[in-house]
Amino acid sequence: MASNGVSPFEQAQLQLSRALKIQKVSDALRARLQKPEREITVAIPVTMDDGTTRVFEGYRVQYSSLRGPYKGGIRFHHDANIDEVKALAFWMTIKCAVAGIPMGGGKGGITLDPKELSKGELERLSRGWVGALYPVLGPERDVPAPDVNTTPEIMRWMADEYKKLTGDIRNGTFTGKPLDYGGSEGRGAATGAGGFDVFKALQTEMKLPESVSVVIQGVGNVGGNAAKIFHALGHKVLAMSDSKGGVYSPRGLDPDAVEKYKKENGALKGFPHAKYISNGKLLELPCDVLIPAALENQITKKNARNIKAKVVLELANGPTSTEADDVLFKKGVHVVPDVLANSGGVVVSTYEWEQNLKGEHWSEKDVLHKLRKLLDRESKNVWERSKKLKTDLRRAAFALALERLEEALYAKKV
Ligand code: GLU
Repeated sequence: MASNGVSPFEQAQLQLSRALKIQKVSDALRARLQKPEREITVAIPVTMDDGTTRVFEGYRVQYSSLRGPYKGGIRFHHDANIDEVKALAFWMTIKCAVAGIPMGGGKGGITLDPKELSKGELERLSRGWVGALYPVLGPERDVPAPDVNTTPEIMRWMADEYKKLTGDIRNGTFTGKPLDYGGSEGRGAATGAGGFDVFKALQTEMKLPESVSVVIQGVGNVGGNAAKIFHALGHKVLAMSDSKGGVYSPRGLDPDAVEKYKKENGALKGFPHAKYISNGKLLELPCDVLIPAALENQITKKNARNIKAKVVLELANGPTSTEADDVLFKKGVHVVPDVLANSGGVVVSTYEWEQNLKGEHWSEKDVLHKLRKLLDRESKNVWERSKKLKTDLRRAAFALALERLEEALYAKKV
């Protein structure tokens, strides 16, 4: 439950009802989007290294198959729960529609602190998740992928387990796999790279300077790659953080050095020539682009007034509450919503699925070029819609998604 007493799923439904005020849809679609098509909670028993058995709670929510197979990652986190997974699965439904990829929306998770498990325990748990859920997965049915704390290696274990249990050797059930196991070129950095593409597509419209200053919350796969890309392409990364706190240097950070320091020291504290600050302070730093790339509900009515960024580029899912959306909109801060800004990951996942099913392997250049073209087009689509409807980018993105979901529903009926 978020600090404002609104759960992530309530937050997601609030976003939907706000968008429904500006985008008229059929009663049938409205009704279908209130609830997931299927939500499953499973108990996963794991033999721990000391011989004892621990039972973990796992989830898969299949929100909507209107536009294609369910698609979305699996989150390993100590706070993961069915309500959060439901919200994330709903956002995947909207995200895939905004991107215009032939996928529905789903999400999965396991409640655990991955740092507490040995590699062997983690592998048995990952395989256990597949063992409990494989009958509802498959390339035409539901295609999971990585999310918070799930890596290509975990996808390898899961894909391997799925093959063993079903005999389906097409390898198109999990995406985000390692390159030597049917993964796609470009998938590792795709969410960060896609975030940069969305920023580039809207940079002029959002009246940002040629070279921008960036503050990033989160140094996982998404935040870490975003930092490297912005830095490599001539922008200044002022601050980066992990779950404990952040480092800030007005002169700019070298993201590779920050990553190396974290690897060697297990924390960011003590990183040379930088100030150590709290995650709360980091969000309020003056900058051009603020990138939340960690968890939900970071920008709320409590701190929205103190945000000094010109643009919030949401690479996390659900980092901004609707109340904060309104405060920021009034202040003239553009919030580029998660369902557009972080869609690079699922787009390249879909390319991976397509390559697997066709038995092809595309070059990194081709993958990233295709991704850039798609995100450029859909970012401009969302921007124009926001101008036309005189609304924020989140409502505009939802409006675009709702239109596409309506088309899919209509096509099913005729
Ligand atoms: N977990 C990512 C997301 O939230 C990627 C999902 C995928 O690749 O299917 O969009």
